[in-house]
Amino acid sequence: MSEPNRSANLQDPLAELTALLLSNHALIILETREEQRALELLRRASLNARRKRDWGVFQWTVTEGLQRIDRDLGGPLRTVADPTQFLRHLKATPAAGIYVLLDFHPYLADPVNVRMLKDVAQGYGDVARTVVLISHHLELPGELDHFAARLTLNMPTLNERRMIVTRAIADFAASHNGIAPPVDKEAESRLLENLAGLSASDCERLVRQALAHDGAITSADLPRIMAAKFELLNRNGTLTYEPDTARFADIGGLHRLRQWLQARKPAFDGSAADLEPPKGVLLLGVQGCGKSLAAKAAAGVFGVPLLRFDFAALYNKWHGESERNLRESLSSATALAPCVLWIDEIEKAIATGDGEGGTSRRVLGSLLTWLAENQSRVFVVATANDIAALPAELLRKGRFDEIFFVDLPGADARQDILRIHTGKRGIELAPNQLAALARHCEHFSGAEIEQAVVAARYAAHASGSTVSAQLIARELVATRPLAVVMAEKVAALRNWARDRTVSAD
Ligand code: ATP
Repeated sequence: MSEPNRSANLQDPLAELTALLLSNHALIILETREEQRALELLRRASLNARRKRDWGVFQWTVTEGLQRIDRDLGGPLRTVADPTQFLRHLKATPAAGIYVLLDFHPYLADPVNVRMLKDVAQGYGDVARTVVLISHHLELPGELDHFAARLTLNMPTLNERRMIVTRAIADFAASHNGIAPPVDKEAESRLLENLAGLSASDCERLVRQALAHDGAITSADLPRIMAAKFELLNRNGTLTYEPDTARFADIGGLHRLRQWLQARKPAFDGSAADLEPPKGVLLLGVQGCGKSLAAKAAAGVFGVPLLRFDFAALYNKWHGESERNLRESLSSATALAPCVLWIDEIEKAIATGDGEGGTSRRVLGSLLTWLAENQSRVFVVATANDIAALPAELLRKGRFDEIFFVDLPGADARQDILRIHTGKRGIELAPNQLAALARHCEHFSGAEIEQAVVAARYAAHASGSTVSAQLIARELVATRPLAVVMAEKVAALRNWARDRTVSAD
């Protein structure tokens, strides 16, 4: 079984943390939402490290104060619950040891606390005190930066997940007179795969739920686990699961894009292992010509779920924390691989109203790095309408496998679009009628053609008749398409696209 994120395999957090504790680091930063798992890791790492040195392990919180946690020495020392008091105490103590501070991040805004932490770090040679800061988010002030080693707690590895599942099964048996629950081996191995990307506590909860549900681990548990996983990974709300994928059979035109995707399917699904997997495409084009539809169809061609990422939501909801939330969303997408990640309106990566543009430049930088380094089976379909707002970096070679231009549909495509949208609504038209109608809608987008069909149905309903080719023709003639109303803009877009993109049709 292979992990989606190859780099995650290389790391063993226990070994890394043990090495950090042994290598005389005065300050270790553990940024994670999984406090319990971090504490457990730290407990084990400090046991490993302490074999060589006689260190105590202490834990501080603002609610409880200071407490020794490797040995029971009675209750906590509450008199040092105040952060500054505590640091004074730490600075004065002759006791070498590992001091774990939970959620200390708000107090790093105080220069007195920063200075005292720096004093403790600089005094490491005299008293070996390693301070470990555990918080969900930690930005260190510059004064402390070079004393600190950072450890990112990746989601549990396959081995850790296996341990979680084994423990949950054993606990279940223990609470059922020692009778082990039936475990379908194939389902168990898929379960271990599906749990990738979830925190240890979420893995544990889902496995326990699966067992509680029917007293067994079977393939029937898998869809429920996948659904729960989508829910869990969509915590920041910028990534949404799009249940509807599309088929190219429901799209008029876009033939070249369709062939391109079909040719890459074996590389994406791994059936042609010697071919490099495709990373993604950028779809630029005229509004309403089917870019969103094509993103959905890409998921349909590859037969995987579609996730949609929305930059506008990122900036609206996560003002000030957009970069971290982008990283979280991308790592959630990676955890949900194989999937298609549709980045809608990618031009919004450069947010308007962002002062000097500093934040959105950094956000864009994070996205570009991820695009370049992404090794997981996440195929990106980015869509954009407004080339003027499109950051030049996105168009550079190598970011996307291909940049497609989705233009206004040609005569054949218009005929197909008419056939698709009349057919969907039970309106039967002969090929020659479709061909005649297609001549009435030159310069129309697919969306505008669809709208004319919809409007013809209203007109037919109002007059008590059935929809005819004449009624549709009348609606088409009455429509002023965007490409005519904004002829200059559309002409500029097409001009621009000519040398820079490949036609999707
Ligand atoms: P925008 O840039 O405004 O988001 P878009 O290029 O993403 O537009 P879609 O949202 O895909 O366009 O199109 C809107 C609707 O118009 C589609 O849901 C579909 O019903 C219809 N449509 C557009 N283009 C086509 C097409 N080529 N074939 C069939 N239907 C189409």
